[in-house]
Amino acid sequence: MDVFELSDDLWSGKHSTKEIHPLIPHNSITGIEDGLAFVSSFANVSCVDTEEGLVLIDTGSFLLAEQVHQTIRTWTGSRLSKAIYSHGHVDHVFGVPYFEAEAKEAGWEGPQVIAHEALAHRFDRYKLTRGYNEIINQRQFRAPGMVWPTNYRYPDIDYHDRYEFVVGDVSFEVNHAKGETDDHSWTWIPSHRTLCCGDLFIWASPNAGNPQKVQRYPAEWAVALREMATRNAEYLLSGHGVPIKGEARVKAALTHTAELLESIVDQTITILNSGARLDDAIHQVTYPSHLMELPYLQPVYDEPEFIVRNIWRLYGGWYDGNPANLKPAREVALADEIAALAGGAGVLATRAMELIELGDDQSLRLATHLVEFAALASNDPAIIDARRAIYAVRAETSTSTMAKGIFGWASTEFDNDNSQPADTNGHLH
Ligand SMILES: [Zn+2]
Repeated sequence: MDVFELSDDLWSGKHSTKEIHPLIPHNSITGIEDGLAFVSSFANVSCVDTEEGLVLIDTGSFLLAEQVHQTIRTWTGSRLSKAIYSHGHVDHVFGVPYFEAEAKEAGWEGPQVIAHEALAHRFDRYKLTRGYNEIINQRQFRAPGMVWPTNYRYPDIDYHDRYEFVVGDVSFEVNHAKGETDDHSWTWIPSHRTLCCGDLFIWASPNAGNPQKVQRYPAEWAVALREMATRNAEYLLSGHGVPIKGEARVKAALTHTAELLESIVDQTITILNSGARLDDAIHQVTYPSHLMELPYLQPVYDEPEFIVRNIWRLYGGWYDGNPANLKPAREVALADEIAALAGGAGVLATRAMELIELGDDQSLRLATHLVEFAALASNDPAIIDARRAIYAVRAETSTSTMAKGIFGWASTEFDNDNSQPADTNGHLH
């Protein structure tokens, strides 16, 4: 797989990220310039070889890092001098121990790891919330049984705003930015005119709203993208997706992503400031069509609608403006009431199936509420079947990994229903 050819084909529309998802690893290494190479993996790794050793930007995931190490060794035998973690997500930070084991064997000096000062706190949090992270990642990627790691290679050097260093005759400028995470670093390598941006660009609508994850920072993210665009880079090497070559393309990718984030932030804050409800923000914010049609802003991983919620949480709080949600009844109690008023849970499920047949967006959303009430109020097998069918349709008709993951998981979660928690009425929830 020639990653630059694929990049051209995606840019021109010959292929789309709907068929070739940006998170698909191609498990290859591509020499870009003398001393610069790109490993396509989950997540990608950028490699700079110098006279004084190798520098890596990201190091591989907890599942593929060993393979990444072997792949890099087909390109260079240099000692690893430094590794920069673009951020602490577990698909980026697990490669260093393979290089350390090798250094020990060869009698080389071990590598140093550089990261933003917030990154170590992330690793601490991942240990604290291991159970939660294990469940949500299984759900997001529909990977039952995926285990959450517990051993992390912490950084040796942390920095606050910017960290500059030279290895061999190559200079590196590492800049902090809040964006997908609070601990992001983007790296500028002037001699290669290369930006390594981590997940601040991923060939998709930004992962700034992820429903199951901690706070993201869309406004600061846009600022960072615009700052990166001032470097006039020739290559953009991102944490996911294929490299982008050419100054005009790199600039377009960065500034269009910034423009989308700015638009969503501005609209959401206007609605927040008006005293309206979260419901108004979710249904009134629009997404500029000239941006949403770009090949690198398709909502195949996260979705703009989820970014609205993240902005609400960041600048507002968890209260959505609906007083009934301030101190809600148990969901099952509300479902029982509604089912009784409707004439039974079966009536709700039947109406949900009618709505799902209509297939338009509002009907799909309504069907989901009704069938969820029905399934909370009754564990009749026909209702559980309806629930399974409706979530299967919602997964199928969603574009993003996040929505497909959550709806897909919901569609099958009661299939082995003896393993499901049931309350004293036998309800599933
Ligand atoms: Zn990533």
